[in-house]
Amino acid sequence: NGFVELGLAPELVQAVADLGYTQPTAVQKKAIPLAMGEGADENGFIDLLVSSQTGSGKTAAFLLPVLNTILQQRAVADAEAKAEFDRLCAEAAAKGEPLPKRAKRKDPTNARNFKAAVPGALILCPTRELAQQVAHDAIELVKHCRGLRVANVVGGIPYQLQIAKLQNADLVVATPGRLLDLQRSMQIKLDKVQFLVVDEADRMLDLGFSDDLAEVNQMTSQRKQTMMFSATFAPRVQQLAMRVMHDNGAGVK
Ligand code: AMP
Repeated sequence: NGFVELGLAPELVQAVADLGYTQPTAVQKKAIPLAMGEGADENGFIDLLVSSQTGSGKTAAFLLPVLNTILQQRAVADAEAKAEFDRLCAEAAAKGEPLPKRAKRKDPTNARNFKAAVPGALILCPTRELAQQVAHDAIELVKHCRGLRVANVVGGIPYQLQIAKLQNADLVVATPGRLLDLQRSMQIKLDKVQFLVVDEADRMLDLGFSDDLAEVNQMTSQRKQTMMFSATFAPRVQQLAMRVMHDNGAGVK
């Protein structure tokens, strides 16, 4: 399977195999290694502006590297948490004290435990249909990744339903309007977003989302990776890239 050579985690290689993908498409071959850090800046991130048509496999070209990096970070955090827990156990045992208990996860469906969603990755799409398609693809790709949650935030769906699913989401796929609504009503916080993907950037601009994109960009972490995908590199797309990217994009064509 050609995805192994791209350096993806086994959970993701398995998911693409389940989908019947045997070889990465051209845009996947180029964008995935770059997005995963080949040629990264001193912060370890690289911003990408990618020219891509619908049908080129662009969705997996941004979802796979984002999910892979989240998995890597999670593995490091889990190992650190385990080492710290083991250390506390050893300390307690040495002192003859009772062993510490692992923290229990709170039930997120209980209203008393409500807290705003703090996703690490945000994918913005121009339309509800596209956002739903991308979320659907993301759910397929995370099916072997334990505890990695995907949520979809689009207009036209009752708020309560969306908010319940949003809690504990790691990756959020959204249209800008509904996302900003939820942000203003403090259902979601964007300051922990370290991956921002703008899908179909040219259509985003056609639909008048330029200011919304700038607003979302401001709210997310300044130390993030931004990827913009667009069918064209029209001057207005390049202007948007300059507005939101650290290094104006590596410009994968
Ligand atoms: P997209 O350009 O993301 O809309 O993808 C177009 C179609 O290609 C979707 O139906 C994907 O499921 C499919 N696809 C994406 N990557 C691959 C691949 N490496 N091999 C075969 N099909 C793929």
